[in-house]
This record gives sequence, C-alpha cells and structure tokens, in this order.
Amino acid sequence: MNQHIHTAEDLKGVEAAGLTTLYPNRLKIVVGSASCGIAVGAGAVEAAAIAAIKELGLDAEVTRTGCIGFCSQEPLLDLVVPNGPRISYGNMTPEKTRSLLSAYASGKDLRLDMALAWFAGEEYILTGESHPYSPPENAVAGLPEWSSLAFYRSQKKVILRNCGSINPLSISEAIARGSYRGAMTALTGMTPEKVIEEMTKSGLRGRGGAAFPTGLKWKFASQASGETKYVVCNADEGEPGSYMDRTVLEGDPHAVLEGMLIGAFAIGAREGFIYVRSEYPLAIDTLQNAINDAEKAGLLGDDILSSGWSFRVKIRVGAGAYICGEETALLESIEGHAGEPRSRPPFPVTEGLWGKPTVVNNVKTWASVAPILTRGAGWYAAMGTERTKGTTVFSLEGAVKNAGLVEVPFGISLREMIYEIGGGVIGDRPLKALQAGGAARGCIPPSMLDLAIDMEDRPGESVMIGTGGIIALDDSACMADMARFLVGFFLDESCGKCVPCREGLRQLSGIMDRICGGSGSEADLVLLERLAGTMKAAAVCGLGGMAPGAVLATLQNFRPEFEKHIHDKSCPAGVCRCLAKK
Ligand code: SF4
Repeated sequence: MNQHIHTAEDLKGVEAAGLTTLYPNRLKIVVGSASCGIAVGAGAVEAAAIAAIKELGLDAEVTRTGCIGFCSQEPLLDLVVPNGPRISYGNMTPEKTRSLLSAYASGKDLRLDMALAWFAGEEYILTGESHPYSPPENAVAGLPEWSSLAFYRSQKKVILRNCGSINPLSISEAIARGSYRGAMTALTGMTPEKVIEEMTKSGLRGRGGAAFPTGLKWKFASQASGETKYVVCNADEGEPGSYMDRTVLEGDPHAVLEGMLIGAFAIGAREGFIYVRSEYPLAIDTLQNAINDAEKAGLLGDDILSSGWSFRVKIRVGAGAYICGEETALLESIEGHAGEPRSRPPFPVTEGLWGKPTVVNNVKTWASVAPILTRGAGWYAAMGTERTKGTTVFSLEGAVKNAGLVEVPFGISLREMIYEIGGGVIGDRPLKALQAGGAARGCIPPSMLDLAIDMEDRPGESVMIGTGGIIALDDSACMADMARFLVGFFLDESCGKCVPCREGLRQLSGIMDRICGGSGSEADLVLLERLAGTMKAAAVCGLGGMAPGAVLATLQNFRPEFEKHIHDKSCPAGVCRCLAKK
C-alpha cells in the first residue's frame, strides 16, 4: 500500500482496499502461521496448499494469519468461500490439505466431516460492525459454529481483536477492521488532556502485572516538565508458559503501534521504543514490517493524519533476560547498559529513558488503547469487575485439553477457565494445582477454583492473575519439585546486583535441593520462611522481593507434601528420583 493517509476519507479508501483482500472474490485459504502454528507444521500445510492449487488448477489464493487462540488445534487452515461460508479445519497435515482441496476442486465439497467449526460472522470490535458469513450448505449434524465452541463461548476479543483474522503483514486489512480510527479520533478531534481523561474513565490498568492505572500514569508523565518525553512498549515477555505478547505482535502489530501513537500524543512524546526479546524473531520481523508500512502511510513520522503531530517508533531487541521485563532494567538495556533495575523513586514517569519522563506500558495495555477511543470509556468500563475493568489475555497451558490463548473479561472464575474453556484435565485426571499469575505466585490448590480472576488478591473473593499465565498441573506433579523448579528459574534470572536476591536465591535453591533430595529437615522450612522475609524487605527490585513467594505460597498450600519429603523421605507423586513413592 503506497497511499499516504491524511483524512478520514483516505482511511476509508484504504479500508475498502483491505476488504477486497479480506474477502476476495475467489476461494481464500488461510493458514495460521504464528509461532504456535509454525512449530507444528504450518509451513508444510501452506506449501501443500500452494502446490494443490497449481496441480488442481483451482482459482484460489493462500494467505497467512496470526494465532486465533486455539493453539492445541494448530496447524489451523480456514477456507473462505466467496460470498459463502468460512470453515475452519484443525490439526491439518499436508495430506489432509491435499485431500480437502481435491474435494473442493471436484465438486465444491467442503469436507465438513473434517471440519472443526464454521463461522457465523466476524465482529469488528473497533467499530462495532461485523462481517456475516453464510452458513455452509448441507452442514453435517453436530458441526458447531465457532463462537459456540466451549473454548470460545465466554471469550471477548478486544486485545486479540484481529489475531487470526487479518494477514499481519497487511496494514490495509488492519485498517479495514477499524485500526487507526482511534488515532484519527484522538489526533484530529481531542486534546491530550481529553485523551487522558478518557483513559482514566475507562479504568484500564497495566496488563504487565503491576496493574497501575494507565490514565494516571499518562497524567503523571504529561505533567512532568521537559520537552523530551518517551513512550516505551515492554514486550520482554519472560514468564514461564506465557506467550500473549508475542501473539499480539505476530498477529496484529498495528494494535500496539496505534496505542503507542495515541499515548505519545497524550503525554507529549515524539519518540517511542518497543523492547522485544530476541527469542521472538517472527514478532520482530512482523513489527518492523508494520512500522515500515505505517511510515509509508503517514501514520508514523511527521504531521501524522495532518494533525501536526510527529511520532517515530524504533525496535530494540533484548538478549532475553527475564529481569529486563522490569521497567527500569528495560530502560537501562535500551540505553545500552547492563539490564539491572534502578532504585525507585524516581519513577520512569518523571525520570525514565535518558533521564526524561517516560511511560512504559506492556503490549496488552497498548493494544487496549484504541478500542477505548473508538468505542468509548463507558463501553470498556462495562466489561470486567468493579475494581478491574475490561478484558485481558491468558495463556492456558499444562494439563488442560484445550491449551491456547484466551481473552475474557475480568471476573471469570478459575473453574470456568479450566473446566469450560480449557475442557478439563487431559485424561480426566484430578487437577492438583494451578500455577497462575506468574512464577513468583507459586501454586494454588483446586479449592481456590471458584475465585474470580482479578488484578487484586481479595481473600475468599478473587485471585490476582498478574501477567496472565495459567499452568494446570495434574496429580502426577510434585509440588516440592515444582517449587524447586521455580526457585531455579529465579536463580538463573537474578541479575546479581543486590546481595539479598543473589545470595538468598542460592540458599533457597539449596534448601529445595535438600528437601527434594531426601536430606531436608524441619529447620529448613523455618530457615526458608526467615530467608523469604529478609529478601522481601531488602531486595532492590520485585524479582528478589517476590521470588520467595513461589516457594512460600506452594509450601502454604501443599505443606503435607513437603513434610512427606522431609519426614517420610518419600515423594507421593514419584517425581523426586532419590525418594521412594509412598
Ligand atoms: Fe537484581 Fe535480584 Fe537485586 Fe532485582 S532483586 S536488582 S534481580 S539481584
């Protein structure tokens, strides 16, 4: 796309172009080609589709899309029939692809017996509009409609609005579904103060785990003195089992760029950085392509949308250190220093990148901004709970039948998450524990399943979900071994700057090795609790302060299992090799 966008009419023109590729007048074959799809053979499925089209003389095109969330069904392939249905097929192989396309070529047979689901339509969350599909003719009994699948029934896609629907390399397809309308509204029709007021009213809180109110953070930065300010996107996703940020960047990079553009306008920043880890090469390439396209379209650069506002974004690739997800370590890394946290205060909103006021928000937070501008703060605030508004994205992993990415309004229970969306435990084994809300929160027992998911811990009512990773563990897991793994993770990831964390984690790791190795004692549990208290009080940053929580929470919730290791020298799950299973 080479058109420079100045006005709402220009945006409409690009929208029309995007619709022609979203819904072409010939058969469209869409292959889920995010990292989750590629890992299980999406490339071979795509190659088979291209070869079959040639061989069969089909008037069709093959295109890629990001992750639609149902990772356990990847590789996913969709057929979009012109003026007809959209059908999705899961767990595809090159052989199944050839067979499907042969059937279509020989008599427009959609092989519904192979299908996962059909789509009644697609919602454009940014505009409130939708695109309907025709139902398939002669639908086989029992073929479900996509939104009726247990995995999708409770979901509301705001952050993931375009993932799995657009080609992430096409800015015109993103625009066709409403991207950059929020930026147009903000830059050409609102003052920065009004944008911040709208963000505050929406109740949006940071989705990276800290849950700080976004409108308030922007207000502090906008009021900070100085001509030079920055916005930063924290895409240094490092929690075990979490890949929500990667999925957004791979599937809908313009969602993040548009949010950053609006945030930059609100606080007065002319430059932004996206800090993304080197382990995410597809996300980096997709993001760079999106930045190039947005610059060509005049949506980044000078005089954006003829508003007089200028804003540029650069990518900074991190080496993959967990601690660089901590915002001040991230800023140090962008500046070219070792990724070690700074003491706070001062906070980045007053002294951030190169000492200038800086707003650091997570990928999911930035991706939540545009819908608030296009649909209004009231629309957004109507979703979620009294204290935590809106939706967030969870990666649902471990021993669940339906693993993948889930976006739901806050307030849903963990039980609904595991047994409805997740389809229950693989093999229908008993659920033993959940590692939810980040590694530092340790493991919680099934007795907490009925608590609502929130960004605050309220005893008996809600569980704080932090960054959004949920890992289900069945009865084959050992909780002491899990605690040992989590401590080992933090020991590896500690930056080593302060003694309480650097040495404390080494000691914690030694205690867990003794317990799992059969030489632990009751005194170790006492030492563990004292050590955790010291680390919490004295560590420089949250990693050292919160890491002991991984052991403490697990110990508190599964103490009898730890005591079996210590007193009976046995591992009930049979995981700790030097101990007997009793
Ligand atoms: Fe580094 Fe750990 Fe200290 Fe944080 S608490 S500064 S990660 S050593």
